[in-house]
Amino acid sequence: MPTKQPKNETTTAKATTAKAKPAAKKTAAKKPAAKKTTAKKAAKVEAPVEEKVEAAPEPEVAPAPAPEPEPAPAPEPMPEPRRSVAFIGSECYPFVKTGGLGDVMYALPKALVALNCDVKVIVPNYGVIKPEWKEKMVFRGSFDMDLCADGRSFYVGIMEYVWDGVVYDFIDNEEFFAGGNPYTNLVDDIPKFCYFGKAALAALNYMEWVPDIIHCHDWQAGLVPVYLRTMFADTALSHAKVVTTIHNLRFQGKYNIPTLKYWSNLPDSAFNMGALQEEWTEANMLKGGLAYSDLITTVSNTYAGEIQTAEYGEGLDAHLRHHSGKLRGIVNGIDIDIWNPATDKLLAAPYGVDDAIEGKKANKLALQKSLGLYEDSGKFVIGLISRLTNQKGLDLVSAVAPGLIDGNTQLVILGTGDAEYENNFRALENDHKGEVCAYIAYDEALSHQIYAGCDAFLVPSQFEPCGLTQLISMRYGSVPIVRETGGLKDTVEPYNMYENTGNGYTFDRYESGLLWDAINRAKTLYFEDRADWDRMVIRDMEKDVSWKKSAEQYRQYYLELTQW
Ligand code: ADP
Repeated sequence: MPTKQPKNETTTAKATTAKAKPAAKKTAAKKPAAKKTTAKKAAKVEAPVEEKVEAAPEPEVAPAPAPEPEPAPAPEPMPEPRRSVAFIGSECYPFVKTGGLGDVMYALPKALVALNCDVKVIVPNYGVIKPEWKEKMVFRGSFDMDLCADGRSFYVGIMEYVWDGVVYDFIDNEEFFAGGNPYTNLVDDIPKFCYFGKAALAALNYMEWVPDIIHCHDWQAGLVPVYLRTMFADTALSHAKVVTTIHNLRFQGKYNIPTLKYWSNLPDSAFNMGALQEEWTEANMLKGGLAYSDLITTVSNTYAGEIQTAEYGEGLDAHLRHHSGKLRGIVNGIDIDIWNPATDKLLAAPYGVDDAIEGKKANKLALQKSLGLYEDSGKFVIGLISRLTNQKGLDLVSAVAPGLIDGNTQLVILGTGDAEYENNFRALENDHKGEVCAYIAYDEALSHQIYAGCDAFLVPSQFEPCGLTQLISMRYGSVPIVRETGGLKDTVEPYNMYENTGNGYTFDRYESGLLWDAINRAKTLYFEDRADWDRMVIRDMEKDVSWKKSAEQYRQYYLELTQW
């Protein structure tokens, strides 16, 4: 969709949500329904008809008393008080996922529901969402919403699906969301996510669902806090506190001020240097969102510190330093039901901690076979699953890869992205047939098979807010080799050969020589001291990478914000 230029840049903003019903009731804070007791009613059994039979001879030995039935474990009590949260973001597994954001938008709400939160997830109803999901959605309502500075309005449909205690509300509008990929280019994406931010709030208003917390994710939801505190300030929704989580500061939604003014119709007061405005002519959706948020979180403690420096701040370091009093880091987890090697149906041979070493061998052979690599369980197989962009340290990988292929080592790369990297890795495969596989695609099933079938897993990122692939690889007993940045630093403890502790291999500066060294340290242990290597595999599988602790931290912050 072409970006229209504003007809009248100076139009002042009015609350243009009039067509959406105002919220009247607060339904979210309702007490949870009383929990069902776990003890099922005893099954009704017919009383046996007494038969006249000869008295049986007394048994010589008294029968052993029936064992006492084990009492059912008492369900863990839900923490009080209950809180309601609306998650607003641009992707959510399994409906649509391009990276870690999609995983978090699925797994964190699920974990919060288990902690007595009432969670709605609001995402666009993209054309790419598979029919199997669309068929499950129920039409919840629709309205027209004023959006642009010239009064242009757009249809907002709400399609709902309730699953595992989480309510998913999909914002429906074919004009914005029919395309193939959630993200295309800023010319299309800026209007799309202006619309989405406002529509998400208007949908909450329409449904009369006023959450305690509105939790926004990344720049695509950047205008939500701005709308909430300006155009929605006199609606019931304004009662909510607003949290923004930065999943990746590189992406901010920047565009020229007139275009953003046109599409958002936000008041001029929001376009100041403390909020949306950046430099003289630019507006920045994430920057504005951060300014209007009550709390900013990012996905690891180290990254929370890094983004306040010029090196990692992506131009927003001063803004983040200014708001550092409300900035926190909470490391991501993974959904340990989806990522469970013991029950993973996508694996050739599911395995648990007890049979991990044999299980991983079987998966390695299956992986080698399916990818056309030499089948040899003795080879050291290194995996890499990533968006192929310069954030991910792929220049370092390209620099060391040819030297790694020494007859004992194989490399499996799964990813899509920049043509430069795709072509480099294709050429690498071509030069090392049978030892290197560059699978240039997005393939969820193959990703599981790689996590299970490789020995070591590379994440040498230039920066990494949290990173999920190192968490998944540990869960599958593949030893991560990572650069000490962001969440990689917070989640991978370096191997200590003297104490036999740690989860993987790490290096600090962004230099190919250091990556080379880290990989060789891993290979040395693998080939020369397999028992210690295997112990690290088991340690990794036993490490807690679930959402349990982090979801509890989010809940604590929600409670701090909502002390009513
Ligand atoms: P980012 O969000 O920066 O892309 P993360 O490490 O946080 O990186 O999350 C990446 C997620 O996307 C992981 O679940 C990973 O398995 C998945 N992923 C990345 N590329 C692919 C691919 N080509 N095929 C399948 N899954 C992929």
